[in-house]
Amino acid sequence: MIILGIESSCDETAAAVVIDGAVKANAIYSQIAKHAPYGGVVPEIASRDHVKKMPGIIEQALTEAGCTFDDLDGIAVTYGPGLASSLLIGYSAARALSQSLDLPLMGMNHHEGHIYSVFLGDEPPVLDGCFPMLTLMVSGGDTRLVYIKEPGHYEVIGQTIDDAAGEALDKGSTLLGLGYPGGPAVQKFAEGGNPNAVRFPRGLDNAGGDWPFSFDRKLCFSFSGLKTALLYHLQKHPSALEDEDEKRDVTASYQEAVADALTKRMERALKKYNCASFACAGGVSLNRPLREKLAALSEKTGIPLKLSSPRLCTDNAAMIAGAAAIKLQAGLPFNSPDDVNPNLSLTNWSIA
Ligand code: ATP
Ligand code: MG
Ligand code: FE
Repeated sequence: MIILGIESSCDETAAAVVIDGAVKANAIYSQIAKHAPYGGVVPEIASRDHVKKMPGIIEQALTEAGCTFDDLDGIAVTYGPGLASSLLIGYSAARALSQSLDLPLMGMNHHEGHIYSVFLGDEPPVLDGCFPMLTLMVSGGDTRLVYIKEPGHYEVIGQTIDDAAGEALDKGSTLLGLGYPGGPAVQKFAEGGNPNAVRFPRGLDNAGGDWPFSFDRKLCFSFSGLKTALLYHLQKHPSALEDEDEKRDVTASYQEAVADALTKRMERALKKYNCASFACAGGVSLNRPLREKLAALSEKTGIPLKLSSPRLCTDNAAMIAGAAAIKLQAGLPFNSPDDVNPNLSLTNWSIA
């Protein structure tokens, strides 16, 4: 079974070929440099660039995998969530190919791609013994804990009530003058800094008062207070922006607060839910201190941890084609959408 995957939900133009669940090609073009001067993704720049790059990226993926359009059995494409104008470019390419080649069009949820990315690599995925699984989804737009009873069955058990973890790193990076995107910039600058120099808030831990959400408060995240705490710290200690060593300590402490808050929730969730494994996926799962803390948690609890290989953490199409292969193997239904859905939610089978 040879699946071509196409992804364009935000600022990565990506195509991949997955054969029997194994990743054979993973072509990615990132627009980061185009958006960096603006400090965030500019939708019109993103969609225009997707139009320019998509045909070449698809060709690159096929060449890398050593196959042609005639070898394909299906086309998997992200149809949400994401930026509508970006999604439409990948979706249109996929739909045109599926019609002209008379191949099934498999509509994929971008977050489902991130979830299954932890199983993907050079070899076919092995899911046996991994479920029920708890997945921490941490990306630029998402911070959630998802309980997955078995493939296709998603229950969100906690989520951020304000900013996503990636957003917190991006905003913190701006305040520290470290540039965009913030996650990698913060990690790089924090190297060698003291993560315990400043005690930044972990969000919600000391909060009282009403709780208007249906989720368990202990499993939810809040990062807006952390960002404000950094702002106040920098206002109170102007030297923190001038002295390199002090700034390194503040940056390391900020990163520590994000990684610690995420790991604490996972630890609580593992106590509450009986799981055969736990996982972390999405761009922020690249973060080294976070990976180390989760590995230590796995050691402490004896529950196996699944992390994606670095090239599969941030947006890519291998996770889209790979997730389609996993769903096919599990006999799960597919949606052949006739439009994109920028607000697509993670419901069971993700076909809503
Ligand atoms: P979503 O998946 O929710 O639609 P997205 O696709 O934009 O959002 P991803 O590509 O999965 O998000 O991840 C991008 C995020 O990952 C950015 O916020 C970026 O700062 C963060 N990130 C990338 N590398 C690292 C790193 N080494 N440490 C921490 N964060 C990182
Ligand atoms: Mg991106
Ligand atoms: Fe993503």
